[in-house]
Amino acid sequence: MTAVLNHDELRTRTLAILDRLGVRDPFTDGGELISRSPITGGELGWITAHTPAQVGELVERASAAFEQWRLVPAPVRGQLVRELGNLLREHKTDLGALVSIEAGKIISEGLGEVQEMIDICDLGIGLSRQLYGQTIATERPGHRMMEQWHPLGVVGLISAFNFPVAVWSWNTALAVVCGDPVIWKPSEKTLLTALACQALMAEAARRVGAPEAVSQLALGRAEVGQALVSDPRVALVSATGSVRMGKTVAPIVAGRLGRLLLELGGNNAAIVAPSAELDLTVRGIVFSAAGTAGQRCTSLRRLIVHSSIADELVARLKKAYASLPIGSPLQEGTLVGPLIDGTAYEGFTKALATAQGEGGELIVGGERVLADEASDAFYVQPAIVRMPAQSDIVKAETFAPILYVLTYDTFDEAIALQNGVTQGLSSSVFTQSIREAEEFLSPAGSDCGIANVNIGPSGAEIGGAFGGEKETGGGRESGSDSWKAYLRRSTNTVNYSTELPLAQGVEFV
Ligand code: NAD
Repeated sequence: MTAVLNHDELRTRTLAILDRLGVRDPFTDGGELISRSPITGGELGWITAHTPAQVGELVERASAAFEQWRLVPAPVRGQLVRELGNLLREHKTDLGALVSIEAGKIISEGLGEVQEMIDICDLGIGLSRQLYGQTIATERPGHRMMEQWHPLGVVGLISAFNFPVAVWSWNTALAVVCGDPVIWKPSEKTLLTALACQALMAEAARRVGAPEAVSQLALGRAEVGQALVSDPRVALVSATGSVRMGKTVAPIVAGRLGRLLLELGGNNAAIVAPSAELDLTVRGIVFSAAGTAGQRCTSLRRLIVHSSIADELVARLKKAYASLPIGSPLQEGTLVGPLIDGTAYEGFTKALATAQGEGGELIVGGERVLADEASDAFYVQPAIVRMPAQSDIVKAETFAPILYVLTYDTFDEAIALQNGVTQGLSSSVFTQSIREAEEFLSPAGSDCGIANVNIGPSGAEIGGAFGGEKETGGGRESGSDSWKAYLRRSTNTVNYSTELPLAQGVEFV
């Protein structure tokens, strides 16, 4: 375990990073929002929140920017994303460190998150020359039918604490290329990274002459989010967070028939078959379950192991978990950083108690480490619990490093266990059997938005569409054709003949 930094040193370092990223004087005495680092649990400063009325003003400005931005040719809009990508490359080290300071991710994952932003900018630049529609065969002579994709309008973006910068960039890089201004309400737990992204985006907009209001921040808690999603001028609400949040936001947007893209909680599983290559499997499991201290939406939470290899696999995992370096995420070599806050720690301890009450056997972990009881920094030893077949706690997403182990005898039983939860984000199978691998990927296999073979459920890359089914919300972001969410489709029929034939042979003379 590695020592945790002194809080004053951390604060000084944070302010210097912010300054280099273009964020000056972020703190205001009397601000309503507190900025903390989970590394020390200490307060960094107070930040002023927007009022719901101010959110209306942001929407007003974004709507005016839309009128202008939607008419700029898409390849020219792409230059904004190119500039953002250049700035991100230049500031990768600082922004990556800031992600670690604010979200508690180890430095390599903080940098990885910024790399993901750079990757989506690259994708956005290419996309800016590829917003293509189709031409479609028409039954009428002398006619042409085609579809075009046009800018949609203002995008209201809500994001979670655990991907404090990537989720913004997944949405923003595509939205602005598609001609849509974005108003971002970041998590109230990660305000500094939001201020830094906004400063970089403002600089990019200045350099290419884009309207300032193409990207704006709405800072605050749930009520600020509510004001944003309730506004009928917000054409698309893209919301990332818990299922609980999604269930509040969805009826509001549906009530005004707005467009919604939801990226909600997961409860991700890995099936381990008897033929699995165990060295690779153990590495895949430990990264997915204990990495990011179990605070990824795609973190591995349920391990479904064939009963013939369960004892051996659990013994290997126990050994790997016992030597995991836990500590300051800024320290080289640390693999597990802190939980985000005391509420997350409470969720961790309660879930472990419930699991044991349901007959679970704690194999390893579960203790609080490094800081004393009075501290507001919450470091824990990632836990593995072997569970009986019937248990309820395994069906809930606890946003902390707890891996439940379940066993199976037939592959059908394994798939039924994997699919037997309300969430449907990510899933994986470790097997050398092509039959099992293909079955897992078939319509009768995993019901998740992401299904992997011989890789854990976490760690997606930009080129694929990201998102999940069932209570995860059905949204898709990032690659493939996810860009279509930020555009409206216009179907056009052009008659270049001198006749007026009607479709379906209808006569009207
Ligand atoms: P959260 O739901 O507590 O908060 C997410 C965001 O929603 C925050 O910005 C919050 O202020 C806002 N919010 C909360 N209630 C709201 C309301 N009533 N109206 C409008 N906005 C509201 O989630 P969190 O603790 O920050 O993040 C963890 C959760 O997010 C986990 O469930 C995780 O699985 C999920 N998540 C999902 C994805 C994905 O892509 N599927 C990605 C990251 C995180």
